[in-house]
Amino acid sequence: MEKIKVIYIFGSGHTGSTLASLLLGCHSRIECVGELKAYERSLQSGRPCNCGQPVAECPYWKSVHGSLGVVPGNGFEGLNSTESDTFARANIAFSKAIFEVSGKDCLCDSSKSKRRVLAYLKSDVFDVRLLHLVRDPRAVACSNLRKGRSYWGYLSRWKKRNFKERDELFVAGLPEQAYHRVRYEDLVLRPSQVLGGFLEKAGLTFEERQLELWNQGNHHIAGNHMAKSTGNDLRLDRNYLDRLNRFQWIGASFLIKGAMRPFGYPISREATARFLSPESS
Ligand SMILES: [Zn+2]
Repeated sequence: MEKIKVIYIFGSGHTGSTLASLLLGCHSRIECVGELKAYERSLQSGRPCNCGQPVAECPYWKSVHGSLGVVPGNGFEGLNSTESDTFARANIAFSKAIFEVSGKDCLCDSSKSKRRVLAYLKSDVFDVRLLHLVRDPRAVACSNLRKGRSYWGYLSRWKKRNFKERDELFVAGLPEQAYHRVRYEDLVLRPSQVLGGFLEKAGLTFEERQLELWNQGNHHIAGNHMAKSTGNDLRLDRNYLDRLNRFQWIGASFLIKGAMRPFGYPISREATARFLSPESS
């Protein structure tokens, strides 16, 4: 049996995975449906698909259910099963139904967490290509702060996901050649170059149409508001350069300096401003 191609977006929260999945999903061979880990929950809770309709009533997902022959939750379970045969069986059937409806042959799952990667890796039916997306943790921690969430808490989660959990994937058998790391900032500043590099490694070719986000409909599960593209998405948020006070900037840089360096993130505010400028390329 031919392996099922899966592009998996891995990373910590709010690192631009919605943008990455939109860009990938505009490829003629890649179908991105957002965070598959949230599919069953979204269906049961009535949370809308990105098209605005509840998942159970969305025409796209109704077609997928039609192709499956059952409505998930009603005789079809196991998309998130911890039992590997059940996980494989459910996800093979689900992917095939998605391919039948979309006419594409590569699935993009932007679930981000390590659990689903480990489950894909346990089964030799899936040909997993991992896109590890990282973003300057100070940028995300800063927006967390504005939403009343913990600034320091995000920094330690970022470090755990991008180092400890990433390393666990290699221990679990992720081949080096199936792994590709991308900085969100590079993706926004140089999308064709960055996507082209990843796709080539995955045996695919970059297509210009991938940048025309506003021309494409999509039926993503979960994700954020960016999934409703206005064409303004390829723009970097540089607010954190001004919003973080001296204590927050230095504290973060000091706490995770060793973790940011391998990704090439500058430590000082001035160097970060240069790094974020379009002329940095
Ligand atoms: Zn929909």
